[in-house]
Amino acid sequence: MTEPSISVVIPVYNEEEALPILCGRLLPTMDKHGKPYEVIFVNDGSTDQSQKKLAELFEKRPDVIRVVQFVHNYGQHPAIVAGFEHSRGDVVVTLDCDLQNPPEDIPKLLEMIDKGHDVVGGVRSKRKDLGWRRLVSKLSNIMRDRITHIKMSDHGCMLRAYHRSVIDQIVKSGDATPFITALSQSLATNPVEIPVGHEARVGGTSKYNLYRLIRYNFDLITGFSLVPLQLFTIVGMLLSTASLILVGYLIFRRLFIGPEAEGVFTLFAVLFFLISITMTGLGILGEYVGRIYKEVRHRPRYVVKQVLQK
Ligand code: UDP
Ligand code: MG
Repeated sequence: MTEPSISVVIPVYNEEEALPILCGRLLPTMDKHGKPYEVIFVNDGSTDQSQKKLAELFEKRPDVIRVVQFVHNYGQHPAIVAGFEHSRGDVVVTLDCDLQNPPEDIPKLLEMIDKGHDVVGGVRSKRKDLGWRRLVSKLSNIMRDRITHIKMSDHGCMLRAYHRSVIDQIVKSGDATPFITALSQSLATNPVEIPVGHEARVGGTSKYNLYRLIRYNFDLITGFSLVPLQLFTIVGMLLSTASLILVGYLIFRRLFIGPEAEGVFTLFAVLFFLISITMTGLGILGEYVGRIYKEVRHRPRYVVKQVLQK
């Protein structure tokens, strides 16, 4: 294999249906583009026939395909980091396996890298996803925009291109819960965004349900902002002030009106409110502490079972 100048990294989790169709479109696009390339599939612990499909594809095109197989499912972003670690190109492109973003758009991204940009982000112009997914993305982008310093239009779009300098920094960062798109944007010195196509999945189903999406958004927020902790402190301070005023008022009534025993339900309402605030705060704190714990354990981000390469 000649040293590739472009590496395409694709995370794969139960994509047996999409894989052959993807290769049928991606490889001709890259062949036509002309520069030496490699496609690194990271099999993120698929439990279907994906590994078999990948091995078949590798047999057909060992000159360009490489397969990294994980022992179990670590998640899309760790899979992409693994792809980065194995990549050799000067430019790395990430792409989802399900053809929601057309591989035919890759040359457009590469052109922007040639113009001197170190990160080229795709923006899904007309998204073909379910309404609730689009809503979650919109809220997530608004939240990121408000409480982190990262400015970008669509952190959920995985069709992106990166210069080697950015890839090296991401790999070196050793982040245990990386959020690739935001992380790369924060490391970029000259990023740019371009519209890319978006279609419905070619096969299989989305790997994200609401629970996974919420966890994924916690990764994003805790990874780039301390605002939730600070907000919690501010709410705590405001509530303490309000409580102090209430206590003063109650002492005043006790002294000048005498003992009173009414208002049990109000008391409960106030208590429930305060307990729920405390629990939310503990939860937020836990999200950070859990991630710190993950980081300090220094366990490997993933374990590779086998690598297929020439
Ligand atoms: N993926 C992965 N590991 C996971 C979940 C997803 O490698 O735990 C891959 C998946 O195979 C696909 C990409 O990440 O290539 C995006 O997943 P999906 O299309 O399900 O996400 P959506 O488009 O619904 O946001
Ligand atoms: Mg998808």
